[in-house]
Amino acid sequence: MKTKIAVAKGDGIGPEIMDAVLRIFEANEVPLEYEFVEMGKSYFDAGHSTGMTEAAKATIENLGILFKGPMETPKGKGVKSINVTARKVWNTYANQRDFRSLNGVQTVFSKAGVSINLTIIRENIEDTYGGIEHMMTNDVAVGRRIITRPGSAQVIRYAFEMARRKGYKKLACGHKANIMKLTDGLFLETFYEIAKEYPDLQASDIIVDDLCMKLVSHPEMFQSIVLTNLQGDIVSDLCAGLVGGLGFAPSANIGDNISIFEAVHGTAPDIAGRNIANPTALLLSGISMLRYLGLTANAATIENALLYTLEKGVHTGDFGDRSVPSKNTSEFADCIIANL
Ligand code: NAD
Repeated sequence: MKTKIAVAKGDGIGPEIMDAVLRIFEANEVPLEYEFVEMGKSYFDAGHSTGMTEAAKATIENLGILFKGPMETPKGKGVKSINVTARKVWNTYANQRDFRSLNGVQTVFSKAGVSINLTIIRENIEDTYGGIEHMMTNDVAVGRRIITRPGSAQVIRYAFEMARRKGYKKLACGHKANIMKLTDGLFLETFYEIAKEYPDLQASDIIVDDLCMKLVSHPEMFQSIVLTNLQGDIVSDLCAGLVGGLGFAPSANIGDNISIFEAVHGTAPDIAGRNIANPTALLLSGISMLRYLGLTANAATIENALLYTLEKGVHTGDFGDRSVPSKNTSEFADCIIANL
């Protein structure tokens, strides 16, 4: 029986990379049925303040899984990001980003023979992303940062469960509790409270600036790291750089009722409509979604085809050996399909 999921192709390069990924799924006869939903910048412009129609919202809530392309954040004060709104509306409190070295994707670490396999769990709802800001005077802007014990507990518990499921031995908490003693202090205190329930995992903590320094010098020291929202956002983009850039960074926004799978990167307006974008990050997100849905055999076949394709030196214009001609988005997908 086929599982039905909601799909939003997104803006900019979104439709190009989503079509490529769905074509790969189809070639592998992935047992999924898609309901395409109306969500993105054009729906925002048409007057839907959340960036989606009521019908789209109802479909996503009914199906529980949204596979989405990147969406443009409308410019202007008082306008909220469609992506941030979606995460909040559905309380997808844990943002999981898996970063691993891929053969064929050269980085400073691959050249040094260092292999990276690292998961960042970022709290996805609280912190400065509440957008509670105001001007105190013309020259003074004030923002509020909110960290709660229940909000911290749900993402930290997810991180421990994820680490156990993946067979990791350790989970670190990144923080700045030495300076933000109450907010980051509460997150850290909650981390060690919950760690008591997972004696099989080695729990440790590290100040976020030290973490950044260690990640760029010895990324192999870490297996999984949980952080608050803003720090997690920055650290996860840093980790994308370690494995070759945003084109290789998948993302899953996990909630109790609804989960959203998407690439970390945005709509890439500079290359949109040219069929040259790299669909790898969205494909990796799709592979995580297949695993999440229990479609592990399809996930493994598609992942192996992707890894083999990359290993053979096939690449889009944003990475790889410049002396080998690059493929466009559709050709890159064709190569993966041929290797399934
Ligand atoms: P971006 O990620 O879209 O682009 C940054 C750079 O990376 C650009 O040079 C782009 O060409 C390149 N790039 C990104 N993805 C690529 C891919 N798959 N293949 C090849 N090159 C790729 O970041 P931005 O320019 O800061 O943001 C553009 C828009 O996307 C903004 O409106 C932003 O709000 C939105 N955005 C959406 C999401 C999301 O939907 N989750 C995430 C980030 C940004």
